[in-house]
Amino acid sequence: MNISGTLNFFKVLLQPSLAIPTYSVPTFDHVPSILANLPEIHALVIDKDNCFAIDGTDSVYPKYADTWKLLQTKYPNRLLIVSNSTGTRNDGRAEILESNTGAAVLRHTTKKPGCFPDILQYFSKHGINNPSSIAVIGDRVLTDVVMGNLNNAPSIWVSEGVELSNGIFQVFERWLVNYLQKKNK
Ligand SMILES: [Mg+2]
Repeated sequence: MNISGTLNFFKVLLQPSLAIPTYSVPTFDHVPSILANLPEIHALVIDKDNCFAIDGTDSVYPKYADTWKLLQTKYPNRLLIVSNSTGTRNDGRAEILESNTGAAVLRHTTKKPGCFPDILQYFSKHGINNPSSIAVIGDRVLTDVVMGNLNNAPSIWVSEGVELSNGIFQVFERWLVNYLQKKNK
């Protein structure tokens, strides 16, 4: 049970604009084209499941290998994987993911969207203290996008991911973003 996520679901009900992503792309392969126009971004928080990896796996989806390499070259030591699965338990998966990707995996007990203080603590060691210079990339609105909006960090929402999910939350999130974006036009 994601207590942080549940509490923040109610925040979104009160303030629906928290669910509007700063940028939207269909897949992880499209992320570099957005970042190319954002020189103020110096660090990336990257979600794992259905963002750069198939749900439940701990490696980069082979089709995204070039994009992954490109981002690692552009943001050396400033690319942090923040997953609500891998890295939340002491089960060895974070170490496997780090070895497979060459990137750091945040160890955290509070799940997204509540773990931004842990993220800031990590990046402060690399000289990055301004949330607006950290982009949050992920496929989930109520965790990834809301975490960005709650902390003044721009979000890049990966709307389809590796596989378009028909899970009830994912269908609801796609409907919600579509509705809010039309309403705000
Ligand atoms: Mg995800």
